[in-house]
Amino acid sequence: MKTTHADPNRDALLAALAWQIELGVDECIAETPLNRFDEIAKPPATAAAAKAAPPPPAAKKPAAARAASAANDLSAAVTEAQRLAAAANTLDALRAAMEGFDGCPLKRGARNTVFADGNPAARVMFIGEAPGRDEDRQARPFVGRSRQLLDRMLAAIGLDRGSDDPANAAYITNTVPWRPVENRDPSTDETAMLWAFLARHIELAAPEFIVTLGRPAASVMVDGPVRITQLRGRWMSPPRAQGRPMLPTLHPAYLLRQPTEKSKSWSDLLSLRAALDGQPPEIGT
Ligand code: URA
Repeated sequence: MKTTHADPNRDALLAALAWQIELGVDECIAETPLNRFDEIAKPPATAAAAKAAPPPPAAKKPAAARAASAANDLSAAVTEAQRLAAAANTLDALRAAMEGFDGCPLKRGARNTVFADGNPAARVMFIGEAPGRDEDRQARPFVGRSRQLLDRMLAAIGLDRGSDDPANAAYITNTVPWRPVENRDPSTDETAMLWAFLARHIELAAPEFIVTLGRPAASVMVDGPVRITQLRGRWMSPPRAQGRPMLPTLHPAYLLRQPTEKSKSWSDLLSLRAALDGQPPEIGT
């Protein structure tokens, strides 16, 4: 009978089988038993090995490379913020430049850019830390829980952020314009990449005096870590204040938690009032 099988090995395999039969082979068995069912359950050895093997070293970025790339990102963001800030010649242009800046990850978690509130012609610029949830929603600094206390503090020394008269107005901003998620403090990388904007903000608003509210704002302005309980109430003129007297004081949110500290804050406010009334502040070292 003519076969139609096209396997080219067929004849060779049949010849090998015939030769084994001639040699007396009458059973298909090996020297040691082999469970063929196990072979079906197990993936082939090569596939299992490939699965268990660690990714090739080239796919993993070493820690040093990751750090270098983060440093490059930070430095690129700082350079871009500096370029945008320097090109802004008015506060409106600065606000627009900040709204268009995408180098800071904080922006991705925020609804709005919180630029400032109050009268930019005011003699005093207050610098808080960062917008909270309410500030993020309303795009204005200090509208949440701390607002009432801050406004009462200002009123106690004759200041009002809503005033059109620069003599008794107040101007308020923050170290960063975007709310950090979970209301954490802004990181040093974040404040570093946004510093150029705050520096330009101070330059353009050109207040006579700066008052920082709380530890993070003071530490951004002195460009290093501070203990606010030791620093508060002491007039200083760090390079970042651009020749202006600066007074660090306690944050309203802290005073809400620690009402007994309000007397310290009151004494700082009286010191600010005296400076506004013409008594030159004693600048410490
Ligand atoms: N706390 C701040 O420091 N800034 C705000 O705008 C609101 C709360």
